[in-house]
Formats: sequence, C-alpha cells, structure tokens
Amino acid sequence: MITQTAVPWQTPTWKEELSGAFRSVDDLLQFLELEGTDLAFQSDSTSPFPIRVPISYARRMRKGDPDDPLLRQVLPLQAETLTFPGFVADPLEEARHNPVPGVVHKYEGRVLLITSPACAVHCRYCFRRHFPYEDNTGGKAHWQPALDYIAGDLSVREVILSGGDPLAANDNQLQWLTDQLARIGHIRRLRVHSRFPVVIPSRIDDPCLSWLGGSRLDTIMVLHINHPAEIDSNLRAMVARLKDRNITVLNQAVLLKGVNDSAESLELLSEALFAAGVLPYYLHLLDPVAGASHFDLPVSEALALYRTLSGRLPGYLLPKLVQDVPGKASKTYIV
Ligand SMILES: *Cc1c(COP(=O)(O)O)cnc(C)c1O
Ligand code: SF4
Repeated sequence: MITQTAVPWQTPTWKEELSGAFRSVDDLLQFLELEGTDLAFQSDSTSPFPIRVPISYARRMRKGDPDDPLLRQVLPLQAETLTFPGFVADPLEEARHNPVPGVVHKYEGRVLLITSPACAVHCRYCFRRHFPYEDNTGGKAHWQPALDYIAGDLSVREVILSGGDPLAANDNQLQWLTDQLARIGHIRRLRVHSRFPVVIPSRIDDPCLSWLGGSRLDTIMVLHINHPAEIDSNLRAMVARLKDRNITVLNQAVLLKGVNDSAESLELLSEALFAAGVLPYYLHLLDPVAGASHFDLPVSEALALYRTLSGRLPGYLLPKLVQDVPGKASKTYIV
C-alpha cells in the first residue's frame, strides 16, 4: 500500500524568504548565470555590511547581464573599497540629532523612529551602512524612551518608522508600538519607510495589515523603488492590499549612476509606479557615504536629466529632486 502524506504546497512566509536570502556573492552570481565574472569583491559574512538579496528580488534581475540595474544596487563592487574626499561614514550627521536612542528629530512636526536595525536587502549606496545601530536597536524596552520623547513634544504630529527597515521587526511588536503611538493625542499620522514590501512583497500579510491599517492614525507607506524592473505582478498585488486598507502609497528613489541615471528609465519608473497605484514622492541625490562614490552623478548632470524628465511627465508623476543637507530644516530642493 502506498501512503501519501499530504504536504500542502505552501508559499514561504516572509521570515522564510528573509532567512533564505542570498548571503554570498558566489551564490547570487551562480543564480544569475554570471559565475566567473570578476565584477564583485567577495564581502565575507563577517563584514559589517555583507551582501543580502532576497530571492524574490533576484528573480526580477536579468540572467546573464552583469549590468542589470537591480543587480548593481546590491552587488558589492571592488569600487566600494575606494576612498573619496567628501564621502564619509555619517554624511547626514544623524548622530548629532539623536535626542534619545532610536529617535532622529531634525525636522519640525515629524520624527524618525529607528524601529529596527535590520534590512531585508543590503543596498550598496545606503548611507546607513555605517550607522551605529547597536545604540538604536528595536524592541519594547528600546522604544519606551522614544515613546516618552514623542509624548512629551506636542509639536510632533507625524511619526516615521524607519531603520534599517521597520518591517524587519515582528508584527506583534509593531502592533504594540502603533497602539502606543495612537494613544498619544497629538500624533495624527504614521508613516512607514520600508523596502521590505518591494524586495519581499509577502511581508504585507494579514498580521502586518492589521496594525498598519487598523489604527486611528492616517497611514502612509513610502516604498523605495529605483528602477521600473522592480515592479512586477507580486508588487502590484501588494500595493493593492495596502490601498484596500486606505493606506496612501508613495515612492522614494535614489538617483544612481549605472542604475537609473537616464530620463527614459525615470520616466518609465514614474509611469509604472502610477499604474501600480503608487505616487512618486522624492528622487534623492546620493548621500556621500564612504563606499558609494561609484554611484555618484555630478549635480549638473542630475539637473539636466531632471529637466528632461520634467518635460516628459505630468506634474503629479514628477518626483521632487532633493538632497539631504545636514543642518537644514527640511530636504533641500534641487531646481
Ligand atoms: C527625510 C527625513 C524626514 C522626512 O522628511 P519629509 O520631507 O517629511 O519626507 C524626517 N526626518 C528625518 C531625519 C529625515 O531625514
Ligand atoms: S536602509 Fe533602506 S536603502 Fe539602506 S540598506 Fe536598508 S533597505 Fe537598503
């Protein structure tokens, strides 16, 4: 007699997707049929910022193409080891605006809460690659001083969950956190800055939607998509789940040499975002972080590109071109 154990086919949970992410340059290059290319330097797993790429993101890369714009965002290149004047560990001087652990309060009316130090993907251009996360780790005990700070400042109307990536925290912890925030009378809006929904769209599951879409706060999800090829059917379905819960969905991108530095790809990005139900918010100039100078585009080129783009798109599809300048009261608009 043949007995068959019924093993129901299951899609992996987001935690399984996270733990199954590529953590080796060789494995990723093999998956992409690029083994033997000597583009990359081998960041070993003890590096403070090793390679990390979820499979669902790698599936959106073109196989056999070493210049794939998604691959370029996550592949540690030899160029990262170059030092370049002006490219420093903490370009935004965030360490100076850390009133209590976990809070960055630079702009009036809104504070950034470093909710979780971890990320689903390690973006090579990220200014947080050198951030002192040990002092900013998540969890209730760590969040309490931040909550007290927010409760004590009546001028704060919006709390931005950021990181690392806030969605790397557990939903029960995030439920607790949003409950606490919703109890603070002067807080109106909850904003989440996350790349999780893009690289692991299954992160937006029912437990996540229940805290995200379930509080009295107006809620905004700011995605981080740099290239139109990042938008696929899973991503569109994820955005639809957010919009079902009345969550406003915006996108911020970073202008990156070798990734999206053409008017055509930025135009396609805005079009694809809108078709997916997302409005473009910011297009950031690169922060001058050590190890990322190979992504840098001169401001004059960025402006020329942006002018071309503004001639091709309706105003509501044109992201604001901004730069984060330390000591300023808001992002700096480049026009
Ligand atoms: C970018 C940023 C914000 C958000 O700025 P908005 O213009 O409201 O999007 C808030 N706090 C810090 C520290 C920031 O860097
Ligand atoms: S903070 Fe955002 S940009 Fe930086 S590595 Fe994490 S996901 Fe990427």
